[in-house]
Amino acid sequence: MFATKVPPLTARVGLACHSCFTERSTDKALARCSKCRSDYDEASNEPFSQRDWASHKALCKTLHKIEHDPVARASLLFNLPEGPSSDSDILNRICTVNAGNLIALINASLNRPMNVVEQNIVVYEPKCLACTRTDRILRIETGDPSAGLKSCSECHLAFFCSEAHWKAVSYKHISEPSTDGHDGLSQCALNNDILINARFDVIMNPNPQSGVFQWAPERVKDMWMPLPNEPAWDAEVGEHLRRMTKKHYGDARRGPPTKPFICASSEGLSFPMTILYALQNLNQGDDGWTKKDTLTIHILGASVEKEVMFGQTFEEILHCLPKVRTLKLLLCGPDLKSLPGGDLGREVAMEVCPLCRRRRRKRIHQHVASKYHDYVQNQKSKRPNGFTQPDLAIAFNSGCSQSEVESWKGTIKILVDERIPTVFTSYDREEAEGEAAILRNAGATLVPILGPRKNPWGSQVLRPEPNKVEGYFASNGWLCAGFGKGLGVKGST
Ligand SMILES: [Zn+2]
Ligand SMILES: [Zn+2]
Ligand SMILES: [Zn+2]
Ligand SMILES: [Zn+2]
Ligand SMILES: [Zn+2]
Repeated sequence: MFATKVPPLTARVGLACHSCFTERSTDKALARCSKCRSDYDEASNEPFSQRDWASHKALCKTLHKIEHDPVARASLLFNLPEGPSSDSDILNRICTVNAGNLIALINASLNRPMNVVEQNIVVYEPKCLACTRTDRILRIETGDPSAGLKSCSECHLAFFCSEAHWKAVSYKHISEPSTDGHDGLSQCALNNDILINARFDVIMNPNPQSGVFQWAPERVKDMWMPLPNEPAWDAEVGEHLRRMTKKHYGDARRGPPTKPFICASSEGLSFPMTILYALQNLNQGDDGWTKKDTLTIHILGASVEKEVMFGQTFEEILHCLPKVRTLKLLLCGPDLKSLPGGDLGREVAMEVCPLCRRRRRKRIHQHVASKYHDYVQNQKSKRPNGFTQPDLAIAFNSGCSQSEVESWKGTIKILVDERIPTVFTSYDREEAEGEAAILRNAGATLVPILGPRKNPWGSQVLRPEPNKVEGYFASNGWLCAGFGKGLGVKGST
């Protein structure tokens, strides 16, 4: 479900193209498809229709057909609630059923399953916060082709179908802490943050195809400081950022805005910070791991666009652990096949920052393009004791309870059987709870503080849940489970 190409929230308000998801600044309006009313950019001076239209045509025709087919129309209206509601659990369930219907209708009409981009356009359609109606449903009900949702005047990212429905949910939207959001902020406040962050991202990362924005403070701590159990990003990196900004611009206020900057950085920093937090909690009462000469981390199900792209940020592990001299990272996953062959298999000493270079510290990466259990068995077959346990095995956003169930089975078995210290993270609560159950069923004894619960060191970049009227997901947003060592927690489940 959380495939790579997720339209940004801003696509809902005409700030990003619905086909290629390129974000637009407010000064340049997007063109709108007259047939299905999706927004598109005018790709590189070509008229709007050229590039995007080719990929849009099939879905557009299908949506148009469904909207005018009596049987399809009836099935789309069937599951709507009678009146407005502020119970987002109920509404989210209705969204799921309705999206399932719509997806089935579209796939049948296309005579093939939708591709990822098409599916995302459908599941991220704006919906009334009080009843889940979409623009399409309003057009069907009223017969008025110009009928559509209105948006919240504060954030423009929440929608309602009528004043009465807005009245039923506006207080909650504006004033109550959003479920699974952060900092006790309301959905409206979080949406505003998302907009600010999206605009900041366009400035910092104008060409998403060529790389990711990554930043980590260039400093080495004097000693290991255990991480708090609550998010404390500002305390962790904000002070350093302000000092640097002051040095650079003479005044901290003249540099980049701290909050969006830290938020954008957390997308990459959540990887090393979650590793540190996992090690800290799997080794409670024993800080031997912070003083090892070589620390070895195995990253399972690694992908090119996440763990490999953000590779540099793993140096933060060395920066928080001044006594460790060498950090060895094994990045393991079938997705790494797409890396050039020469980059696979061997250990490569990556370039480290000047501070680490001076102290002759090393960050060694090894990319292996296979499933982890195949890697372990391969190591074992080479020679007896050919496999050495890592200090931590970690699977980021694995999706092992949803889309990738089968492919993770063998790996989970080996992690549990070998008692390898392991942590799994996920995008949201639902996945975290599902994955914890899978790991428990496989025989793992879970360390309670490592999930299922929100990850204090997950990315602060929130994205709205598809197919829901409320809720967000984030990279490493939840800790699913930690197990393998679990000192003093025997028997707890
Ligand atoms: Zn486009
Ligand atoms: Zn269209
Ligand atoms: Zn409504
Ligand atoms: Zn709002
Ligand atoms: Zn360094």
